[in-house]
Amino acid sequence: MDWIYIIYVFILGTLIGSFVNVVSLRYNTGRSISKGRSKCFSCNKTLKWYQMIPIFSFLFQKGKCSTCKSKISFQYPAVEFILGLIFVGIALREYQLWSLYSQLSNGLAYSIFLFVFYSVVFSLLLVVVIYDIKHKVIPDIFSYTFIALGILKLGLFFYLKDFSVTGTDLLDVAAPFILSAPLALLWLVSKGKWIGFGDAKLVFGIGACLGLVSGINAVILAFWIGAIWSIFALAKNYRSRKNKVHLETEVPFAPFLILGMFLIFLTQVDLIGLGTLLNSIY
Ligand SMILES: [Zn+2]
Repeated sequence: MDWIYIIYVFILGTLIGSFVNVVSLRYNTGRSISKGRSKCFSCNKTLKWYQMIPIFSFLFQKGKCSTCKSKISFQYPAVEFILGLIFVGIALREYQLWSLYSQLSNGLAYSIFLFVFYSVVFSLLLVVVIYDIKHKVIPDIFSYTFIALGILKLGLFFYLKDFSVTGTDLLDVAAPFILSAPLALLWLVSKGKWIGFGDAKLVFGIGACLGLVSGINAVILAFWIGAIWSIFALAKNYRSRKNKVHLETEVPFAPFLILGMFLIFLTQVDLIGLGTLLNSIY
């Protein structure tokens, strides 16, 4: 893929990243998401267009409001940069899979659809990550939108295959239920202490988007990353406790699920050889 396209896609990602910042900061605050220009949180001064350029405005203003000099959260450029990288990742993946899609009669339309689809999905999930880290809850509107998008993609997939489905295709339809059932059970048994019901809903959407094999891999990878993170967090906690500093030990799980989903989506790695196993059965 040409460098210039990669740069375009990156810039598109940073622009949507600004919007992700707005949504994740304004949701449930009573401020409209679509109306009202961006303002400085300290002095309430409305930002000019050149103060709203993703990443660059933050760098040029050295992370400070140009009117009142109060510090601007590092979240803004970080989220813009991360979503830029995510968009590039999605584009490169679709580009790599082109040899596969080009065999379909509507391959080009499907490929473009998948780029737009996953851009929307991962922008939404980035909002979920920020929101879950800040508030330790996933608003229903986000999880249900994610699930609806996943079901839309499942439907389109069958439409493109002319509804001539194989055994593994049927497993992909069952994937949301197979994947979310164990998490829902964990939630039920622990009365919500080990895992939130929001996580189960998230996994339902992951199953619908990725299918059974990649979906299971995403959840397994999420647990691995979560475990490694917890070990480091515990070690840090242990050391700081000696300094009589209390640290919160509760870790939101959604960011790990979404990171696991993105990494499996990007690399298509089958950590446990499940795809090979299923192909030998069907
Ligand atoms: Zn200001």
